[in-house]
Amino acid sequence: MEPTLSPTDLAFRDEVRAFLAAKLTPELRAANARQAGVFAEGELNRAWHAILYAQGWIAPSWPVEHGGPGWTPMQRHIFADECAKADAPVIPAMGLQMCGPVLMAYGTPEQKAFFLPRMLSGEHYWCQGYSEPQSGSDLASLKTRAVRDGDHYVVDGTKIWTTHAHFANWMFLLVRTTAEGKPQAGISFLLTPMDAPGITVQPIVSISGEHEVNQVFFDGLRIPVGNLVGEENQGWTVAKALLEFERGGGVMASRLFKMLGQARRIAETEEAGETSFWASSPDFRRRLLQLETEVSGLDYAERQVAAQLSAGRDIGDATASVLKLTVSQLLQRATELTLEALGDYGRADQRGALGYGANTPPIGPDYAITPTAKYLNSRAATIYGGSYEVQHNILARVVLGI
Ligand SMILES: Cc1cc2nc3c(=O)[nH]c(=O)nc-3n(C[C@H](O)[C@H](O)[C@H](O)COP(=O)(O)OP(=O)(O)OC[C@H]3O[C@@H](n4cnc5c(N)ncnc54)[C@H](O)[C@@H]3O)c2cc1C
Repeated sequence: MEPTLSPTDLAFRDEVRAFLAAKLTPELRAANARQAGVFAEGELNRAWHAILYAQGWIAPSWPVEHGGPGWTPMQRHIFADECAKADAPVIPAMGLQMCGPVLMAYGTPEQKAFFLPRMLSGEHYWCQGYSEPQSGSDLASLKTRAVRDGDHYVVDGTKIWTTHAHFANWMFLLVRTTAEGKPQAGISFLLTPMDAPGITVQPIVSISGEHEVNQVFFDGLRIPVGNLVGEENQGWTVAKALLEFERGGGVMASRLFKMLGQARRIAETEEAGETSFWASSPDFRRRLLQLETEVSGLDYAERQVAAQLSAGRDIGDATASVLKLTVSQLLQRATELTLEALGDYGRADQRGALGYGANTPPIGPDYAITPTAKYLNSRAATIYGGSYEVQHNILARVVLGI
């Protein structure tokens, strides 16, 4: 669906398109096509980050005073949309979209001066230490302990599902600084370099064969008191603000349209005189068209959100939950259709990630490279960032008042 853009926005869109055509090289596109995870990983992330930083476009939502480009929400939407259409690598959210805004709101002048420029430049690669083995949805029950010892906190405990902890050189984490009062009242928000003594990162390889998440252990880790963000025991307020930034208006419809286009192309492919899956399966065609219609609805909703934010209005908890639910389920259904269209080639994963081994000759055509891993990876979409059930609980409370 083409939005109605003002002449200024149209000129901006053309500028973004020209930039992407020039800078998103075939090598970067090829590397990105092999990514199955949520965010661009390691070197690919660093390379694309450096290009956007040089252009001054790495932090679309940051204010100009901290190095942002000063775009309107609609310009940010256009930029994200064009990046999605061009299959640009997805920059991890943990630093620029989560920790950065938190530091702007709650950081000391020293923290802002030290961390924000390094976050922008990519020198600091961040990971998020919130979840623990028994504390995910019920985050306030977290147990990682920090005890004050002079100018330091001594931290013991563990974090789990930590995305990109193996690439990151900094982590923001929630710790328990007192066991007294309500669970929320005893939490603090700290920052630590990942190479500090007492940190161990243990990989978790997911069902898709990806190494995207980790378990991180703290054993007598010493964090300077100067790395406390906000007041001691007030970390819950900081943590909640960060989750609001995490959920802020995404642009998924364009990525989903691309995935559905790929599913359609794969289904239309004929081999050795066989009728294509597209031609032989009216049920597949029906479900694909149904999904395309629903993604059009999402596209409309995302543009409405951009327009609302442009007008200075908050989108509210209910809209955020509906969008999270819609996006995660559409993503899962789109990957299911792609896998179905692949047929037998769905067994092949040419990156060796599914146990075929890095030296195994490629099985099947190029388009079979990642759909299986993407399908498996997207099972987690209804868990991370607030699970399916938790979103329904929010809707029950906010919309139905129960
Ligand atoms: C791929 C991936 C990446 C992640 N990255 C990070 C990261 O970088 N940093 C980080 O801190 N965390 C990360 N997480 C963790 C994520 O935030 C948690 O998995 C999520 O909050 C759910 O917590 P849990 O896994 O402990 O499941 P639980 O909270 O134990 O939930 C188990 C099941 O019970 C349901 N449930 C829980 N509470 C309720 C309730 N009140 N009512 C009804 N049903 C309920 C859930 O919906 C779920 O189905 C990541 C997770 C995944 C899968």
